Amino acid sequence: MATGTLTNAELMKRREAAVPRGPFNVGPIFADRAEGALLWDVEGHEYIDFCGGIGVVNSGHNHPAVVDAVKRQADRFIHTCWHVAMYDEYLRLAERLNELVPMPGPNKTAFFNSGAEAGENCVKIARAYTGRAGVVSFERGFHGRTLLGMTMTGKVKPYTAGFGPFAPEVYRLPYQPFFSDRPRTDDEVRAECRGALDRLFHYHIEPESIACIIVEPVLGEGGFYPIHPVAFAMLREECTKHGIVLVSDEVQAGFGRCGAMFACERYDIVPDLIAMAKSLGGGMPLSAVTGTAEIMDAPGIGGIGGTYGGNPLACAAANAVLDVMEKEALPERANAIGKKVLSKFRDLQAHDWVGNVRGLGAMCAIEIIDPETKAPDTARAGRITVAAREKGLLVMTASGNVIRTLMPLVITDDQLDRALDILADAIASAG
Ligand code: PLP
Repeated sequence: MATGTLTNAELMKRREAAVPRGPFNVGPIFADRAEGALLWDVEGHEYIDFCGGIGVVNSGHNHPAVVDAVKRQADRFIHTCWHVAMYDEYLRLAERLNELVPMPGPNKTAFFNSGAEAGENCVKIARAYTGRAGVVSFERGFHGRTLLGMTMTGKVKPYTAGFGPFAPEVYRLPYQPFFSDRPRTDDEVRAECRGALDRLFHYHIEPESIACIIVEPVLGEGGFYPIHPVAFAMLREECTKHGIVLVSDEVQAGFGRCGAMFACERYDIVPDLIAMAKSLGGGMPLSAVTGTAEIMDAPGIGGIGGTYGGNPLACAAANAVLDVMEKEALPERANAIGKKVLSKFRDLQAHDWVGNVRGLGAMCAIEIIDPETKAPDTARAGRITVAAREKGLLVMTASGNVIRTLMPLVITDDQLDRALDILADAIASAG
């Protein structure tokens, strides 16, 4: 046993008594420590981590540079509140993000705590800027669990069922023509997306009333579908034409995961606002909205912000994360990882319970389907993740039947090979 005196099972009993079922668990394990791409539970079992705290530790668990930055900041001060006494780490991080985003600038950045808050603040900023109320999001999209976050989220169970009434003025585009992985020509994609946009504008809301369209360049919780390049370009054109703010929700797809610092860069698309969180803070709770200064300055003084937004420890961690990303060329590494993962996943398509495989950079997915009906097979995907965990790989699904990869990008080649072998064995024995 590593540290604690209790087993996972004993702790699980306490968890069941003390914590509601709502905050779900990928598996019944309690962490003892983590480093790089590895995590150890309280019983001393070692796991290669393909979850990365759900896409939070692209720069690795406990990167020494991040730990050091947090410790140094903690010695100076832990919290002042940006609104009370400003500090260098917040300012420096804002300046760096303003330079890093693909928008030509001048840009500005404000910090918050969670991905949901980043998305919500994009909406507030877009509404203040345009003077319009409408918000358009996508079926299968995920933007968090707050009232507006879940309203923008395009999936009923478990995210919105039983939680209404929802925030008003949120409209939805279908995911299919924008994200489908059906083989299609560019002209077909253009025609199908045109149809979906026209239906939105004719039957649901006129473009002149839309403040923003919020889109994930790669659907995260929705099943790791990368948006079609033609569809993303059309959204950009449409937003420009109608004065709509285009928001790229890069909470899961960002920070090197997709092979560039920002996923929209893989498409050469310049959004108006980018919502970031997760791997921005390297494990510290931090989110950000970066955008064109003119748009970002629309809300009045005191209109956005919050007590903890841009906490000093979190900003210090994020500045260290940016150093690590640059020094260790992690976005490039994501592409190498993704290449290897997808090649292995394609081999696994030999099993008739493996469906589509797809990915952008290291944001990869392998679908598990029923061999006869070809329908999503959530139960089989669940069995695979349990079998993988028992062999030392932490991996999770998206949208039930889609096994997804969110490994730290600092994973070594040897760890990656071992992890893919474990996953391949778990899939092979799921017949
Ligand atoms: N947006 C996207 C694309 C996400 O994937 C998530 C979380 O998975 C969120 C927003 C919500 O982030 P948080 O859980 O930090 O509120």
